[in-house]
Amino acid sequence: MKSGIDTLVRLQKVETEAETIHSKLSNVSFRIDTLDAKLKEFDRTLTSEEALLDELKRKYHSCESNGQTNESGIKKIKEKLRSVKTNKEYQALLKEEEQLKAKGSQIDDEMLECLECMEKVEEALVKRKKEYAQLLEEIGREKKLIAQEAEEIKKKLVHLDSERKNISERIDSELLEKFNRVKMQVRGMAIAPVRNAVCYGCHMNIPPQMYNELQRGDDLKFCPHCQRIIYWENS
Ligand SMILES: [Zn+2]
Repeated sequence: MKSGIDTLVRLQKVETEAETIHSKLSNVSFRIDTLDAKLKEFDRTLTSEEALLDELKRKYHSCESNGQTNESGIKKIKEKLRSVKTNKEYQALLKEEEQLKAKGSQIDDEMLECLECMEKVEEALVKRKKEYAQLLEEIGREKKLIAQEAEEIKKKLVHLDSERKNISERIDSELLEKFNRVKMQVRGMAIAPVRNAVCYGCHMNIPPQMYNELQRGDDLKFCPHCQRIIYWENS
């Protein structure tokens, strides 16, 4: 029984190590996802700023063409003014010219405002693109490190898996079955040491009679409180 228990303890140790590695590996994909999300978020900001710049450019061009139409309207009035016949007609044309000039200066103001905005957004974009390139580089480096780390621990996992197989083959199949059943029931450590009559799986006391039998190590014992396989550890 003693050697069987020793082998189970070793098996549990190997399995626990493998589980730690599995959780590290799932953490790896979480870390990579987080980095990708950061990059995507940045990309979204960049895209919306570029869209804003395009919008401003469109607005500027539309103002420009409105301004040209306005200018040619003024030119036409000036031509008409040369051949005007009555004072009333003259006054009406002057008024119309006045209105077009006012509209022209409004368009000029809008264009100026647009240009100022474009300049600001362009400046911000240059800065943002630089930051993006830096972030891309940083994330690339970090991902490489994470991948290297994952490679190392995967190798360790392969090693642990083969060790687990070797150990399992050496355990009596009935005992291994019991071990696996308890492992499912307690969802974790299936075998626990008992020191000074205390089960280290649940930290409860083992009855004296059972503790005596456990010390003799004649047969397989289960903790009456947590149902784990228990063994005596001389402390
Ligand atoms: Zn227990």
